[in-house]
Order: sequence, then structure tokens, then C-alpha cells
Amino acid sequence: PEAATVERWREDFPILHRRVYGRPLIYLDNAATTQKPRQVIEALTEFYENRNANVHRGAHALSTEATDCFETARVTVARWIHAASEKEVLWTRGTTEAINLVAQAWGNAFVKEGDLLVATQMEHHANLVPWQMLARRSGAELALVPVRDDGTLDRERYRQLLERRPRLVALAHVSNTLGTINPVAELIAEAKAVGATVLIDGAQAVGHFPVDVQALGCDFYAFSGHKMLGPTGIGVLWGRQEVLEAMPPWQGGGEMIAWVDEHGFAPNELPYKFEAGTPPIAEAIALGAAIDYLRQFDRAQLAAWETHLYRRLRDGLAAIDGLRLLADLPPEGKAPIASFHVAGTHPADLGTLLDTQGIAVRVGHHCTMPLIARYGLPGTVRASIAFYNNASDIDQTLSALSRALERLGAPAP
Ligand code: PMP
Repeated sequence: PEAATVERWREDFPILHRRVYGRPLIYLDNAATTQKPRQVIEALTEFYENRNANVHRGAHALSTEATDCFETARVTVARWIHAASEKEVLWTRGTTEAINLVAQAWGNAFVKEGDLLVATQMEHHANLVPWQMLARRSGAELALVPVRDDGTLDRERYRQLLERRPRLVALAHVSNTLGTINPVAELIAEAKAVGATVLIDGAQAVGHFPVDVQALGCDFYAFSGHKMLGPTGIGVLWGRQEVLEAMPPWQGGGEMIAWVDEHGFAPNELPYKFEAGTPPIAEAIALGAAIDYLRQFDRAQLAAWETHLYRRLRDGLAAIDGLRLLADLPPEGKAPIASFHVAGTHPADLGTLLDTQGIAVRVGHHCTMPLIARYGLPGTVRASIAFYNNASDIDQTLSALSRALERLGAPAP
């Protein structure tokens, strides 16, 4: 795109106008959460100013309108990920809650002592700790597919684990620390061939490229609204209908029941069976608005721009002495996330020095402690790009980084 086009995109994001320590904000922490376009912010206020009511309950106009908007957002999500039906779209608080739902409702029902669960060494703690907890309470074994030096999965080791016919395979579509895009369609097909149930953590994928859950062939797909321009507090668990039907409900309460008497209850139909309590109504509607917003773009053009910026960043980083960029894969084949470590520095010091220049990056283990340990690092600096970043964001970050390294490398007075 032309620079003017990118500047027009940026106009949709009010926060990009603010200053930090007197300098214009340079936001390169998009893998942690994306910024929100005006259209999403307005969807939240529009709901509270004009339609606020609880859903599925009231016999009044506001409640009917709120319910319509809320259920329309569910249909928007279903179409966007190509679900067979909106009944397969469950609202959750985010990816973390979606995965915990599966680990508890599905895991407690179907995982037995001696079963094998397979995840990978690059998982976010959200797609690791729930399985560790399930393994502990069920007596199942959890095995992790190793990550190779280049930031890709060890496919040979994966195949060996599949020979043991695991009950579950849980893996990230895109690594939040490395930016590696896993070949999930192939990995899913291999796992389905041995009868495993497959969950994909799509938290870092949905913001960058289109996802088709039916084409992927997995059983569950989890993601968060706030990483794809939507608000916090809303996420999605997509589940294949027959798998969701076979699962017992998760949390108990209002909404998830068909009836209750003094002795028991019958669960509601999908998707409400898994939605106990008042849902995040405004947030779900605003996630629908985020999807409507994204849909007006040619997503390939957005992705190409992100790749262009990532390449610019990567080329600049490559010129820095002692800098190690993790998963230095061809930029076209990875998400625009640069995780690096500079010998002799601590990531936290670099993060602080960049922050004083108004540059927001993330430092540390990025909720992937086993992965960071595997690389033998104390942590990394992670710069993650979104389509509303511009070339100046990258250039200024690279020069601020050089200045920071000079300061850190300067001999003590
Ligand atoms: N998985 C991945 C790959 C992530 O990047 C994140 C967020 N950093 C999560 C899971 C957890 O998402 P949330 O905090 O929105 O539940």
C-alpha cells in the first residue's frame, strides 16, 4: 500500500495519536493485545447508550434488541471462521478460558489414567498448564513435541508420539513468542488419522490471516477478541457440533439449563449449554464490529504490509552485533513477531530504555517459559507488528535500540 493508505488506516485508531513521555507512541506490542479502531469503541458505547439489557430473558424491547445484536455477532464470527453453524461458536472470556473449558468439560469426561496428551514446547502457558492440570488429576501423561533451533516443530518426534495414539493433540496455530506459523492442516490430518481429538490455539492467527475451521479439520479452535481489534473479556471456543454435543456442560448456572427441579437439571441446547451466567454482551457485539471492520480490507494486502514491516525490522536487527533473532524464518512464512536477545544485555533493561522513547515492546518469557528455557535465554525482547504500524515505527525503533545498546555497552564511569 501507499504510505498515504497506511496513514488512513492509522486514522481509525485514536490511541495512535497519543504521546508517551512526550513522544509519539510507537506501539509494537500487538501480540499482547491489538489497539482498537473507532468502529469497535463506538460499538461498545452504542450498546450501552442505546440498547443495554440482559439477553435471552426480558419480555421487553431492549432485551430483544440486545439479544438480536448479540446473536448476530455470533453469526458474524461463525461465518468469519467458516463454522458449519453458529451453534458451534461459544463465547468465552478469551483463549485461556476456552482452553480451560475443553480441559475441564471434555478432559474430565474423556481422559483416563494412562492416556497420552500431546502439546508442544512452544505453547503459551494457556495451552499448557490446563493440560498439566488435567494430566495431574486424571493420571494421563503429557508429552511435548520439541522445538528445533530454527523455531519449527520436530515433525519426526511428533510422528513418534502419534504412534502412541494420543487422546488429545493441542497446539498453537502461531507461536506468540517466535511468530512461527505451524503447518496445522498437516499436523491435524496426521493426528486425526490416529483418532486424536485436536485443539488449535488460534490466539495469534486470527488477527493476521483468514482461518477456516472446517478446512483445517480440527475439533476445537480457540481465540481471543482483543488480539484481533476487539475488546478484552471476549473470546471464542469453536467446537465441532458432535464433539460439543457429547461433552457434559462446564459451569452451572442460569442460561445453560433447559429446566431445573429440586433434584437436578437438564442442559440447554448448543451453544447455551456452555454459557452459564450473563455473558459479556457488549464485548461480543463489539467483536462482531471488529470482524465487520476487518472484512472491509483485502486481508492479503494487510498481511503483505505486515510482512514488509517485519522484513525491514529483521534486516535492521541483523546488523546489530551479538543480536540473536529467534525463529529467523523467511518473513513471508511467519507472523510479524520478532523475538530477540542481545548478548551481554538483559531484555528488561532494553525494554525500559525503549519505553522511555515512547516505544512499547514486551520483554520476558511471554508466557512461554519452557520455550525460553529451551533456548537457554533469560527472556527476549519481542516486537510484534500490526497493519497499522508504519515504516517510521520500525526505523525509530531500530535507532532507539542502537542508542539503548550504546548506553548499556558504555563503560561504567
Ligand atoms: N495463546 C497464545 C498463543 C497467546 O498469544 C495468548 C495471549 N498472549 C493466549 C493463548 C492467551 O490469550 P488470553 O490471555 O487472551 O486468554
